[in-house]
Amino acid sequence: MYNFNYHRPTTLAEAKQLLAENDEAKFIAGGMTLLPTMKMRLASPSDLIDLSQIEVLSGIRDTGNAIEIGAMTRHAEVAASDLVRAGIPVLAELAGQIGDAQVRHRGTLGGSIANSDPAADYPAAILSLDAVITTDQREIAADDFFLGMFETALAVDEVIISVTFPKCARAAYAKFPNPASRYAVVGVMLADTAVGLRVAVTGAGPCAYRETDIESALQASCTVDAISEIAVDSAELNSDMHASADYRAHLVVVMARRAVLQLASVEPRVSA
Ligand SMILES: Cc1cc2nc3c(=O)[nH]c(=O)nc-3n(C[C@H](O)[C@H](O)[C@H](O)COP(=O)(O)OP(=O)(O)OC[C@H]3O[C@@H](n4cnc5c(N)ncnc54)[C@H](O)[C@@H]3O)c2cc1C
Repeated sequence: MYNFNYHRPTTLAEAKQLLAENDEAKFIAGGMTLLPTMKMRLASPSDLIDLSQIEVLSGIRDTGNAIEIGAMTRHAEVAASDLVRAGIPVLAELAGQIGDAQVRHRGTLGGSIANSDPAADYPAAILSLDAVITTDQREIAADDFFLGMFETALAVDEVIISVTFPKCARAAYAKFPNPASRYAVVGVMLADTAVGLRVAVTGAGPCAYRETDIESALQASCTVDAISEIAVDSAELNSDMHASADYRAHLVVVMARRAVLQLASVEPRVSA
């Protein structure tokens, strides 16, 4: 590891000031992606600004119709949270499937979505639950947040404060994990939301996206049969050492079918 300056601000204003003063500075959350990237010399920030002591970025709150989760909340905290398990059980289950215990105790919600790794789990939940991302500058709708591989709508100096996940009647997440890292080769989340059934896919494309063909079919009839004839176009999907684009296209439908079956067994939640 090469030399860099390390800062531990306790307020957001201080963190932003440090970023403004140092051209090559970067925020660090749990370091689960940033530190390996630095070790591989793919990033070489002059200054690391640790977000962990900034109180406004932490915590899980039930706001009645939604669960609001601070950006610095670790995956293990989401998985174990009574508020999340009661309000949006699928979100706790998803968080509990991320990586291994070490990753879940260091990795954060904000770091995960700021990174927009194509194989990350949270983006599927953000899109299917129609979540809202609150930053220090604005609120960003789920559909506007993920722009591409490792690319989001965030400006370089923008900090994610929290994510608000609306509660929904019921939801299910089916993931085909990479057996080594547990990242999603493909993950599909279905959510029966206030604005209708939403279907989001992660792992398959350059970033998480809504699978609108499957979504329309399931809106008409939420059954396995309704989607068994759907062929997902592999042209825009990822192909790598883990899976070809065609295999991922096939997995999208298989995971969607598994999610439909899971959804059928979920007791619908009565709205607040
Ligand atoms: C072995 C391994 C297995 C993994 N398996 C999975 C998996 O199965 N599923 C999954 O979803 N993920 C997986 N991950 C990813 C992990 O869950 C982390 O969420 C991810 O690595 C980001 O790490 P972090 O939260 O520590 O953020 P960092 O690495 O600290 O930061 C990542 C990026 O986000 C920026 N950032 C951080 N916080 C904010 C903020 N509040 N506002 C703006 N920008 C911010 C940083 O500047 C940096 O550019 C895995 C990681 C590892 C190392």
